[in-house]
Amino acid sequence: MIDLHIHTTFSPDASHSLGEVLKAANESGLRIVGISDHHDPQSKMPDMAYISSFNEYVNSIKDARRHYEFELLVGLELGIQSTVDEIPEHDFDYMIYSVHEVPESYRMERLPDPWTSYLRECVNALRPMPYPGFFGHLDFLRRYVEGHEPLYQSALLDEVLIKIAKVDMGIEVNTSGWRHPFFEQNPQAWIIERFIELGGKYITVGSDAHSKDVVGEGIDEALRLLKKLGVSEVFYCKYGDYVPVPVISLISAVEA
Ligand SMILES: [Zn+2]
Ligand SMILES: [Zn+2]
Repeated sequence: MIDLHIHTTFSPDASHSLGEVLKAANESGLRIVGISDHHDPQSKMPDMAYISSFNEYVNSIKDARRHYEFELLVGLELGIQSTVDEIPEHDFDYMIYSVHEVPESYRMERLPDPWTSYLRECVNALRPMPYPGFFGHLDFLRRYVEGHEPLYQSALLDEVLIKIAKVDMGIEVNTSGWRHPFFEQNPQAWIIERFIELGGKYITVGSDAHSKDVVGEGIDEALRLLKKLGVSEVFYCKYGDYVPVPVISLISAVEA
């Protein structure tokens, strides 16, 4: 199994330390593990997430490598916005690039047309990045909008997907949606298919775990879904590039 979206207590909203999370990852049989703590340099949220020492963060992940046999990657969930141009520099293997808010509000769901505001901000925030990576939980706004109304097809969504592909970024299938009342991964299956149709190449999977108990949760289901959609490889990143892994090799043996 693979899980490229995991938080530790380097994120203010996560419950378990790097050591605890890695132990849990090992027990769940993960083979490729990416730590991706929050860094939202321009957030207006009162409890905004910010990594104060990248040396400490990056080195503790690198140091932990000697204790485990799985592939342990240094990631970061970078909050991107149209107004942000500060990309931290360090030995990152990859980043999860997420739009969590728009300049006019950190509560997008309170805006008159939340989906349009979100998608516009995605288009404006997307640009070539110094690290390979994946656009985080596209359509996650569903967690907050009234009735958890899903995203519908639009020219603006296409523009977002085309731009992701054009800047050589991938998308993640984020399984945390299965822990929300709409009970579906982010993004929806048709959006994944549309991304591929529009030239998207790189897809990964992540649990977005903020607790050790859900590390790897839903990943098997996400991989099965990708297989059903005809996706044969998922990706992680190393040495500045995308590395393919056959989907079939990552699905648990039981029902593979
Ligand atoms: Zn996020
Ligand atoms: Zn996250």
